[in-house]
Amino acid sequence: MIQRLAIFLGSRDGDDPRFGRDAYDVGAELAARGIELVYGGGGGGLMGRVSQGVLDGGGRVYGVIPRFMVEREWGRLHEPGVQMHVVETMHERKAMMTARADAFLVLPGGLGTLEELFEVWTWQTLSLHSKPVGLLNTDGFWDPLVATLDRLADHEFMSRTTVDDLVVAPDLAAALDGLASRLG
Ligand code: AMP
Repeated sequence: MIQRLAIFLGSRDGDDPRFGRDAYDVGAELAARGIELVYGGGGGGLMGRVSQGVLDGGGRVYGVIPRFMVEREWGRLHEPGVQMHVVETMHERKAMMTARADAFLVLPGGLGTLEELFEVWTWQTLSLHSKPVGLLNTDGFWDPLVATLDRLADHEFMSRTTVDDLVVAPDLAAALDGLASRLG
């Protein structure tokens, strides 16, 4: 059973309101299932939306945000239901999120989101942790990335097993099932 799920997703809203709605719905569903949201602590973009969905549903949010982001007022601090940790560096942030979460799920996002995905996934392949990683592939958003990963495996730059270890799911229920089935 997954009790604490780390979500990586955009600090921006994207070009379509459906991204925000989907992120909010994911947060609301986590709250309904009693799963804690572990995330980067941001109040803007999809990060803000997913955390708002959890809070409106009466759920629990565990955020880890670097001080420089707080100083730029990017963080979601001092709100009921939010356990926020202010750290000094991005590295500390990722280490705390990795330690706290049972599994990782990636929603639409940009460079930061991809960086987080590839770090936790790479570290899993190196056996630095054994926590499952997944893509929430709502409306096929991540299909081009999945195609690139398949290409890397086809050309033997990564193993097919590694690609297969990544959960790719069309909705949150399927993603949680896939992640739970890969818990170490
Ligand atoms: P991106 O996908 O580039 O929007 O970045 C999302 C991820 O990068 C988040 O999960 C954060 O770790 C980090 N990040 C980038 N910009 C911000 C921001 N304005 N507020 C909070 N976190 C951010």
